[in-house]
Amino acid sequence: MAEVRLEHIAKAYTGDLRVIRDVSIDVRDKEFVVLVGPSGCGKSTLLRMIAGLEAITDGNLYIGNRRVNDIPASERDIAMVFQNYALYPHMTVFENMAFGLKLRGIPKEHIRERVTKAARMLEIENLLERKPKDMSGGQRQRVAIGRAIVRNPQVFLFDEPLSNLDAKLRGQTRIELQKLHRELQATMIYVTHDQVEAMTLGDRIVVLRNGDVMQYDTPLNLYNEPVNQFVAGFIGTPP
Ligand code: ADP
Ligand code: MG
Repeated sequence: MAEVRLEHIAKAYTGDLRVIRDVSIDVRDKEFVVLVGPSGCGKSTLLRMIAGLEAITDGNLYIGNRRVNDIPASERDIAMVFQNYALYPHMTVFENMAFGLKLRGIPKEHIRERVTKAARMLEIENLLERKPKDMSGGQRQRVAIGRAIVRNPQVFLFDEPLSNLDAKLRGQTRIELQKLHRELQATMIYVTHDQVEAMTLGDRIVVLRNGDVMQYDTPLNLYNEPVNQFVAGFIGTPP
């Protein structure tokens, strides 16, 4: 079971200024939840706390049934995909995807098997010997997603993974992410400032504003019954 539960989560980077105020969210096992809101509202901060990359100021975070506030990132059953890909430039695609597995002491033949399988899923088998600098943005992002897949985590976290892609590629990759979610049967939490991405990808959507949850509901309910002007404007405004 890989539900993710945030209970009264708060974050202050410095002093008393809380950029996340009091966030309670329940993400079900295998659910695709999108965190959406304008720039600076705290999306990345929330995701980084779930990942274990940022300390939690207040509240409780559970992954599965385990309270993970004090569990380091490397021991959480999660993988995170960043906007800027964060690939190692001196390594090939294969080495980039294999690196995390090697660190955990997974045997070579298993590593090859897992990397090959993920590469096939993402249609990047022909790129395995290339270096990141010799690839397009779209290809690099696939490698970044591949690196998350090979770890076989129960929870995937995405921080605006499509923001650096052009509109056409963004649309394509969005559809592939939906397919991937079905195939992997994993819990996914996905951050974006893009309403269309949120509405097409999310089983449920968290609308954030200034570190507070405005509404947490299905795309249909957000659209039909926004709780306030902000949600109505944000969801209703075409891209
Ligand atoms: P988003 O991802 O929605 O754009 P962030 O989570 O990056 O928002 O930022 C939320 C707020 O926290 C912003 O006001 C931002 O300036 C602040 N912030 C983010 N990271 C840091 C940090 N490392 N130190 C201090 N303030 C930060
Ligand atoms: Mg951000």
